[in-house]
Amino acid sequence: MTETPGDSFSQLPLAPQVLANLQHLGYERMTPIQAASLPLALAGHDIIAQAKTGSGKTASFALPLLANLNVRRFAVQALVLCPTRELADQVTQEIRRLARAEENIKALTLCGGATMRPQLASLEHGAHIVVGTPGRILDHLQRGSLQLDALNTLVLDEADRMLDMGFSDDISAILKLCPAKRQTLMFSATYPDGVTTLARKHMRDPKEVRLAARHAAGKIRQRFYEVTESQRLHAVGLLLDHFRPVSTLAFCNTKQQCRDLVAVLQATGIVALELHGDLDQRDRDQVLVQFANRSCSVLVATDVAARGLDIAQLEAVINVDITPEPELHTHRVGRTGRADEAGWAFSLASLDEMGRVGRIEEMQGTPSEFHPLAELVPAAGEPLRPPMVTLQILGGRKEKIRAGDVLGALTKDLGFDAAKIGKINVNEFSTYVAVDRSIAADALRGLNAGRVKGKSVKVRRL
Ligand code: ADP
Ligand code: MG
Repeated sequence: MTETPGDSFSQLPLAPQVLANLQHLGYERMTPIQAASLPLALAGHDIIAQAKTGSGKTASFALPLLANLNVRRFAVQALVLCPTRELADQVTQEIRRLARAEENIKALTLCGGATMRPQLASLEHGAHIVVGTPGRILDHLQRGSLQLDALNTLVLDEADRMLDMGFSDDISAILKLCPAKRQTLMFSATYPDGVTTLARKHMRDPKEVRLAARHAAGKIRQRFYEVTESQRLHAVGLLLDHFRPVSTLAFCNTKQQCRDLVAVLQATGIVALELHGDLDQRDRDQVLVQFANRSCSVLVATDVAARGLDIAQLEAVINVDITPEPELHTHRVGRTGRADEAGWAFSLASLDEMGRVGRIEEMQGTPSEFHPLAELVPAAGEPLRPPMVTLQILGGRKEKIRAGDVLGALTKDLGFDAAKIGKINVNEFSTYVAVDRSIAADALRGLNAGRVKGKSVKVRRL
């Protein structure tokens, strides 16, 4: 992609400190959805925009809602509804980064699955922006712990997914409690009837922003391989050993296939984890942390389990089975090749699945590129290993541990190079720190023998 003048944030009516912050965040030019929606949204229009995961939606609504905000008015002025807790957490974090241009903007996440009491306490302290899932937001509205009289911006993020997940009634109930005079911004990857109905009922002359559904040519390289059933799972290992992607999301059509694939990959020494609906929230967090911090090579999931997942830096997506729905195939494939990076999308198809491949070709308007399995030769040297290892410190927010404490213990106290320390996630009861594989054993020993925040801690390797 070449830079065109139309891509620059500087042409938007944004304050200089906001532009400076964007530059600081590495936002050099607008993504297509941002370029199409921001001028309209910043002019105060209601918007219904079609955008897939990873297209830069958050800034498309965060910049307008921040522009509508009066920081000195201590009341909830913006509400963002998201389908899942993970998405809500990510949106809150991104809003906080984008809000850094101004002092003291408070954003709060309110989601189900978390205990009520801390949420009630946070609400008492006040917030300008609330991000959450519909069920829990409605719960707070009904208890009176959340008021929306000062609301001026309402965002529905991934509206189609929220409807899919059965949030329709909750959303309608929330909309009825919002002031009529407000700006509403709705984002959705697809436009099922429910979404159109919502827009018609609750939006004011919305401007429609649609982008071509097809992915930027050349950014995602798609390849198909013909396999027999007995080759299929083994072929995933061949792909990984040949292309050596650091992070791969592998889609299966069934839970059983997910379990089988994880077993096959683990048996060959590949670090693979399964994301499935039966995991409790803590296990799910643990799996996602390990994948996001690059200490797990392959995340294996069904479409349902992967719903709402937003992971940057996916080098590859593998369709272990071909989905019967061509739309889903496009969604799966769209998970790779985020922002400006190239990505691989591999699909394994048996003869029985060729009809499905045909429908995918029809939808994409291009013939699929088939390659022989025999082309896949393992790269020489070590088998595929994730670059990082996750260490779990038993203790988290409850113990008032912060990321800086862990980084300090590793770099200042133990003398490790900061470049060898990866993501640090502090959860309620646990802290996860990714360290370079080469220092994992020493870091584990050092942390167990030393102190974090003046206290000795228990640490284990995941
Ligand atoms: P979506 O909500 O559409 O899934 P996000 O808003 O989470 O996408 O953006 C995906 C990633 O791209 C995030 O890491 C975000 O910081 C980054 N990003 C968004 N817009 C830009 C931009 N204009 N330039 C560079 N990076 C961007
Ligand atoms: Mg998002």
